[in-house]
Amino acid sequence: MNTQGVENLYDKYVMKTYTRVPLVFAKAKGALVEDIEGKKYLDFFPGWAVSGIGHCHPRVASAVAKQVKKLVHVSNNYYSELQGRLAKKIIEHSFPGKVFFGNSGAEANEGAVKLARKYGHEKGRFEVITMNKSFHGRTLAMIAATGQDKVKHGFEPMPQGFVHVPFGDIEALEKAINEKTAAVMLELIQCEGGINVARKEYVEKIREICDKNDIVLIVDEVQTGMGRTGKMFCYQNYGIEPDVMTLAKALGGGLPIGVIVANAKFKDVLLPGNHASTFGGSPIVCAAALGVFEAIEKDRLLQNAVKQGKYLAKKLELLKKKNKLIKEIKGMALTIGVVLGVDGEGVYRKALENGLLINCTQKNILRIMPPLTVTKAQIDKAVGILEKILEG
Ligand SMILES: *Cc1c(COP(=O)(O)O)cnc(C)c1O
Repeated sequence: MNTQGVENLYDKYVMKTYTRVPLVFAKAKGALVEDIEGKKYLDFFPGWAVSGIGHCHPRVASAVAKQVKKLVHVSNNYYSELQGRLAKKIIEHSFPGKVFFGNSGAEANEGAVKLARKYGHEKGRFEVITMNKSFHGRTLAMIAATGQDKVKHGFEPMPQGFVHVPFGDIEALEKAINEKTAAVMLELIQCEGGINVARKEYVEKIREICDKNDIVLIVDEVQTGMGRTGKMFCYQNYGIEPDVMTLAKALGGGLPIGVIVANAKFKDVLLPGNHASTFGGSPIVCAAALGVFEAIEKDRLLQNAVKQGKYLAKKLELLKKKNKLIKEIKGMALTIGVVLGVDGEGVYRKALENGLLINCTQKNILRIMPPLTVTKAQIDKAVGILEKILEG
């Protein structure tokens, strides 16, 4: 089948919930993708931050291949060794506590909100404060949590109990807190929101306020987790620890997973009958996630993320000096936003035509998130393509 043939199937049978570009992936490896027409691309936004260590990573592929012949799914009424081992691995890399396994970022965030509400229940606390321009997922509760009107239109009335304040504004946050406040939910880098990086003092202050008022601090690391910012988790750049952290995207190496990580104080809030997920933490997905951790640890991918992130930022800064369309470079390690003085959609399309896959968010911000395995030569090539496009 060719690209047009696949598009025809979608026109007839798949809901039009996404703006898709006419590109049908056939196979991929690392940062390289080949479409069904045989055209090759350099992928600097692999799988919308899901393929964080690159497409089809050999450690993930072999872990999954081995597991698929042994045991694919177990109901959560039984134990599974791989789920236990993955939970231990996540806790060893974060903070003492316990995890819950689900299947997506929205599901993890929604579970985290349930945890916070249950914790605050006796005191009559249920409200969750989130930030303007945040993104927490597409379920009904998570579009209510998300601080962007565009995701809510047409779906009103919204579930109750979510309040938004401007990102980075500590006074507004303090004002919003009242006797009903159960949690503050925060992305340390608003990725969807345009790669807005939280300041260190802001985050420290939020931690302090939550401690003082016994409010649950939920950090949404669905996109920033698993080495993307040079540390395993982004909060580790801030010298604070969240009470609850959510993970998804890159954790499964391409397989669907969403995790709630709760620290010692909150680890036993959710009990039998409170929360569940049928597919959550299946052996096959846990094998994949353990493969992701193994790759990051054994192949020293955090070090590579820091090194290549610096190199990429430096090359983009040089490009900014030469090109007036670039207004600002922002981000952390391999999470980079290029702010343009023009609409980014055209740049994104031209990049695609020239064999470079990136993303454009908030209309004028190019989101560049190459895999943790990226090489200097691939960065040179990608920046070269951007340079050519921005000159044209
Ligand atoms: C992608 C994303 C989500 C939603 O994850 P899904 O797996 O699509 O439900 C939530 N929060 C952040 C920060 C994200 O980037």
